[in-house]
Amino acid sequence: MKRKEFLNKSSALVAGSFLVPLSSCQEQPTNQSEKDMSATETTSEARKNWAGNYYYKAKNLHEPKTVEDIQALVKDLDRQKALGSCHCFNDIADSLSNQISTKYLNKLVSIDEVAKTVTVEAGMRYGELAPVLHEKGYAVHNLASLPHISVAGACATATHGSGVSNGNLAAAVAGLEMVRPDGQLIQLQRGDADFAGAVVHLGALGIVTKVALDIQPTYEVRQDLFQELPLQSLKDHFETIMSSGYSVSLFTDWQNDLVSQIWIKRRIDEELKDLGNRFYGAKAATRNLHPITALSAEHCTEQLGVAGPWFERLPHFKMGFTPSSGEELQSEYFVSMDNAMDAILALEKKRDQIFPQLYISEIRTIAEDDLWLSTAYQRKSVAIHFTWKQNWEEVRKLLPMIEAELAPYDVRPHWGKLFTIDPKLLAARYPKMPEFLALSKKYDPSGKFRNPFLDLNIYAA
Ligand SMILES: Cc1cc2nc3c(=O)[nH]c(=O)nc-3n(C[C@H](O)[C@H](O)[C@H](O)COP(=O)(O)OP(=O)(O)OC[C@H]3O[C@@H](n4cnc5c(N)ncnc54)[C@H](O)[C@@H]3O)c2cc1C
Repeated sequence: MKRKEFLNKSSALVAGSFLVPLSSCQEQPTNQSEKDMSATETTSEARKNWAGNYYYKAKNLHEPKTVEDIQALVKDLDRQKALGSCHCFNDIADSLSNQISTKYLNKLVSIDEVAKTVTVEAGMRYGELAPVLHEKGYAVHNLASLPHISVAGACATATHGSGVSNGNLAAAVAGLEMVRPDGQLIQLQRGDADFAGAVVHLGALGIVTKVALDIQPTYEVRQDLFQELPLQSLKDHFETIMSSGYSVSLFTDWQNDLVSQIWIKRRIDEELKDLGNRFYGAKAATRNLHPITALSAEHCTEQLGVAGPWFERLPHFKMGFTPSSGEELQSEYFVSMDNAMDAILALEKKRDQIFPQLYISEIRTIAEDDLWLSTAYQRKSVAIHFTWKQNWEEVRKLLPMIEAELAPYDVRPHWGKLFTIDPKLLAARYPKMPEFLALSKKYDPSGKFRNPFLDLNIYAA
């Protein structure tokens, strides 16, 4: 298929679904005060994840209204798994029996002005938290490309935004409250012995009920976009380009030796120099752009250097709109910054195989951290992301090829997206995997929170 024809077809698909309200896993904010606070709602209807590519196998979905309800459920139920906002593309949030949704745990609990932390209930979404936090004069350090994900679900899988000095969202976790298998509550603070192992936990340790996040004074961000960066410029100046803003994203369809777009997001409280009309050979955008250039930018956050609050610039899509297609699949792979350009060039060689199944790729950076199962564990990282057409049979054939190309760089896949890496290889890429396995057995000796994803990727590895 010719490029233009492909874009026309994919534009129709993606543009349409950008506007569709989420129907698979309900996204409507809930007002707890209007609910009957006395009972957990339980349903046995067939349910899908956000993308609609995965039907949950768990027969029962429990929707408790209070922490006490969760404690009672956890104690009583045998096999169970916490469910956040259903934005993972694989079976990580599934259970063979019961899912416990955090949908009704969606309140801001408190702000500690001295410790500079905000404590939220586990199911609160970043999109619900951000405006309230801003109103009170605060911000978090970074956001993912979409704001609709729950805080606990995002941190559980090491969800990230971009920025060479920005850790992933889990790096901001200062404390957790969790329900243990016996129904008892446990609190963990940064500095506690188990903390580094417990923050990116893949749902293996318990049901998180509250999360404390580091905050800082609110700030404004401007975003400036450039188009058609020559691949050679990226080769010559990769780190400089990725360091040119507080958060930088590259979008590419791997065609024509060009990176289609560079999104440079800069805090206006930092020294800003004029980036000019040309940036390493890329030309400044003269209108707001969608990451897929052919699509309307109507739902994208304001660009062209117009400053605005952090939560209206760090995500690519406006809060009020569904920020990406439900008819898509996603995969993402993390390599060390030192290997980034080699990894990108290895994939670029495969562009003719990748392109027919691709909507767009995004390349971002993440600062290293010390969280055992973080994809950026002790590695300043570059994330190479693929938004695929929802054609799993074809995408499934591509992933092993991509993973083989990236194997020399000890690639780690995003825990919540699609991958096919052999569990033993995967385990070997996490130096603290044996310790995490031991932690899981300590917290959950009877395996209440185990599911097929954990059995395959953690317990059997
Ligand atoms: C359109 C789209 C865009 C995305 N953009 C990004 C991006 O920019 N960056 C990025 O890194 N990722 C991105 N993702 C992936 C997404 O952020 C992760 O998959 C994230 O984990 C989803 O959070 P969730 O609340 O939906 O989690 P779920 O899918 O509901 O659950 C994820 C995991 O967390 C566990 N969990 C959830 N809540 C709790 C709890 N209270 N206690 C214990 N365990 C819990 C679940 O058991 C499961 O293991 C994107 C996904 C989509 C669909």
